[in-house]
Amino acid sequence: MTYPIVSKQTASDSIQPNLRNYEAVRDSFQWQQASDALNVSAATGHLNIASIALDRHQLTATKDQVALRFLSKEPHSEPEEITYSALWERANRFASALTSLGLQTGDRVFCLSGRTPDLYMAALGTLKAGCVFSPLFSAFGPEPIQARMDIGNATAIVTTARLYRKKLASWVSQSPSLRYILLLDAPDTLDSPDNTQLEIVFLQPLLAHSSPQFETVATRPEDMALLHFTSGTTGKPKGAIHVHQAVLAHYMTAAFALDLHPRDIYWCTADPGWVTGTSYGIIAPLCHGVTLIIDEAEFEAERWYRILQDQHVTVWYTAPTAIRMLMKYGPELARQHDLSSLRFLASVGEPLNSEAVVWGLETLGLPFHDNWWQTETGGIMIANYASMDIKPGSMGRPMPGIEAAIAERSEAGEMRMITDPNETGELVLKAGWPSMFRGYLHEDARYQKAFVDDWYFTGDLARKDEDGYFWFIGRADDVIKSSGHLIGPFEVESVLMEHPAVAEAGVIGIPNEVGGEVVKAFVGLKPGYEADEKLSQDILGLARKRLGPAVAPKSIAFRDNLPKTRSGKIMRRLLKARELGLPEGDTSTLEESR
Ligand code: AMP
Repeated sequence: MTYPIVSKQTASDSIQPNLRNYEAVRDSFQWQQASDALNVSAATGHLNIASIALDRHQLTATKDQVALRFLSKEPHSEPEEITYSALWERANRFASALTSLGLQTGDRVFCLSGRTPDLYMAALGTLKAGCVFSPLFSAFGPEPIQARMDIGNATAIVTTARLYRKKLASWVSQSPSLRYILLLDAPDTLDSPDNTQLEIVFLQPLLAHSSPQFETVATRPEDMALLHFTSGTTGKPKGAIHVHQAVLAHYMTAAFALDLHPRDIYWCTADPGWVTGTSYGIIAPLCHGVTLIIDEAEFEAERWYRILQDQHVTVWYTAPTAIRMLMKYGPELARQHDLSSLRFLASVGEPLNSEAVVWGLETLGLPFHDNWWQTETGGIMIANYASMDIKPGSMGRPMPGIEAAIAERSEAGEMRMITDPNETGELVLKAGWPSMFRGYLHEDARYQKAFVDDWYFTGDLARKDEDGYFWFIGRADDVIKSSGHLIGPFEVESVLMEHPAVAEAGVIGIPNEVGGEVVKAFVGLKPGYEADEKLSQDILGLARKRLGPAVAPKSIAFRDNLPKTRSGKIMRRLLKARELGLPEGDTSTLEESR
């Protein structure tokens, strides 16, 4: 079903959208405007994300404003408020602590923690110290964590004793680069790693003795600031490098696509382990001087509505999976709450179905504004704006300062622009925006392969309609999007293959009403093993233990043979077509029997 256009939001009396005339701003916009708005002087040659997000506010009345309002998962607890100046002081102490431990500019500080204020302190303190911040998702199992920390040459990891025991203790002694495990809490007992290079540090006493004053390290705009991992179809996870200059895009895109105004009460529900949780969960909102809501608990419909109501949230940035879960509870639950503070709703991470846009309008009184971006782009690239009509189901139009197009490339690597409206091709972006990734760590060839001349190929298929709106079609590769998380099939298959019974494995995403896709594994067994429920549970159990529940397959199907190319590569595309009863497409390279 196609839905009619949702007319642009009418501005509330006091608040005009930041982006009032899309066409006019697009035509004239230069990234220099972001530098000017943030008083970034090219003359000094210095730029540090933390200076923009925190230090700057210490000279204005924003310092006394609440930066973080933390909602603990403990029942009946009161919200904890942390002002911009208190957060600044905590980040200073953290930066002082890192320096006292001998960490230097460019060292990689990983963070494995739930959503708590400590995470913000660690992120900002790491940046202040000139180190590189790399967040990990706490629902990852030991395997994905080790892979990312090894690729990233981790020097330190900030975590809790519980997560250390569960996800790190079994392997950290073998880490070639890790020197510190910085524990946010103090456990009763903890076994020390049997590696004398590696030290466990209890942060509480260290921070108490660290200086609350710290002069932010004068990094340069092109210095590495953030390392975000993303999944590819083959090989190991990719470490996307982002630089301090990215802050210009974080700031500007949040002004345009999230319509952030100072003093907004803003809730970004993304987990800090993913790029959204950093770019728009930490950096962009602090740059704008808003109050951030941090909820430690997991999704629960009633709790979420209560948060929107009781915290007077004005701008809400969430994801399609969450919206679909709320939709399942029906409009009644929403209507039992006073949601009149809400001013702007946005969504990212997966295709936002038209029904969800319209549901927002009917149930919450506001439409969801879908926007599109990915780890590599570092910030929002295509969006629906407050001042623009929404075509439900569309990702919107390119951000001012961003050139997006549809193209295809030949086997020989030549690019052809697709200019006919509505023709499907790969979504491409003209290189050069401030938050563009600057490389995949240690994998320059993989990075170069993503570009033809100065166009970046995103790996997503899309079309552009006659009005310049972009529509998502699907991934151009086999990467799976489950509950907003990108999952590389290769990473999952590699763990399945470690089970003694598994001879071969192919992993695909199966469409799912709530989560977008769920991971399904197809497995061929070694001779002598019986395909039964017990074995299936055993293999799934191994996958959950090693990969964590967010990444592990939800189900397994046993097959005598998996479809393969003549060169022996499992054809996931064909597994998927057969599973879903879709056309098999080109099977000329198929070599089915072994
Ligand atoms: P990640 O790098 O984990 O943030 O995932 C990025 C990928 O998520 C994109 O390349 C898309 O495949 C998908 N994605 C993100 N936002 C949207 C959206 N608004 N509509 C459809 N797919 C999206």
